[in-house]
Amino acid sequence: MFKAILIEQSAQGDVASLRDLEDAQLPDGDVTVAVEYSTINYKDALAITGRAPVVRHFPMVPGIDLAGVVESSAHGDFRPGDRVVLNGWGVGELHWGGLAQRARLKGDWLIALPGAFDTRQAMAIGTAGYTAMLCVLALERHGLTPSAGEILVTGASGGVGGVAVALLARRGFRVVAMTGRTVEADYLTRLGAAEVLDRAQYARPGKALAKERWAGAIDVVGSQTLANICAATRYGGVVAACGLAGGMDFPGSVAPFILRGVTLAGVDSVYRPRAERLQAWSRLAEDLDAATLDLLTEEVGLADAVAVAARVLEGGVRGRIVVATQE
Ligand code: NDP
Repeated sequence: MFKAILIEQSAQGDVASLRDLEDAQLPDGDVTVAVEYSTINYKDALAITGRAPVVRHFPMVPGIDLAGVVESSAHGDFRPGDRVVLNGWGVGELHWGGLAQRARLKGDWLIALPGAFDTRQAMAIGTAGYTAMLCVLALERHGLTPSAGEILVTGASGGVGGVAVALLARRGFRVVAMTGRTVEADYLTRLGAAEVLDRAQYARPGKALAKERWAGAIDVVGSQTLANICAATRYGGVVAACGLAGGMDFPGSVAPFILRGVTLAGVDSVYRPRAERLQAWSRLAEDLDAATLDLLTEEVGLADAVAVAARVLEGGVRGRIVVATQE
């Protein structure tokens, strides 16, 4: 038996609860992992609350990421005792996920835990932090260096945003953090932000081309905010878009792209090829230290996961949540 969060469909809608499950109920897979930590990412919160159709079949154990120790393996790359981390691949959406004490997965989805991190730190980073790193790499691929100018990070008090601020500051960029929680200015400054802006200023429709300010941006909000960022991005700048916290639409103009050569770089973490995952985790090991992770992280137990999911969607969580699954 093992404990897990299980989402089931009912006449009242999707219901998530802490349950005792049997090993025989685990899905097919060639590696069984004793999960030590998982997290509540934004997508997990949507799945657990049923606020968006993240889960594709029921019953489902949510949790799009996990870190733990291999219990048994029929995969050539992994042996019992190996520490592993998993992000994405439809886990927690199509295949039972990490908010459980045990998971059975495809070994091809796993990567060895980087030596710089323990399993708790890996999940303090989680899919949010790994996605922040993918966004930083997207900016760098377009040639952005600290001398190019200021970088805007939206949703800065959340998970992706917080890690992005810390990563960019560590590399020497001047980072401007945008948030709805300006009361968190001190926290954002400690993460490395040089300036904090209220997100209200990008919430309403703006000009197709605004005054050029940003050399680059990492945006988790989408919608009107993303349109306004593109409009204020400098000639040749690049905007990495990975989120939809403010909406799925993009009410923008092509003007920044065709008149200023701005690049809009889409970032998906779920089906990222293995080589890019390894690159992202190796850069995280270089650029994130334990003190920064501690500043970003709150820990809860598996029994608290359902309640915390609602708090995430209300914007009531600062930084990252790690879920200690064995508690
Ligand atoms: P969090 O909940 O930790 O952070 C989201 C932040 O967005 C909030 O803290 C808040 O920041 C801001 N926000 C929330 N609602 C609004 C709104 N209505 N308008 C403007 N800003 C808002 O989530 P994550 O950091 O984990 O994820 C952020 C986004 O990135 C999500 O949309 C998620 O789905 C997406 N994502 C995408 C991935 C991919 O593969 N493409 C992978 C991981 C995440 P503040 O209080 O500072 O304003």
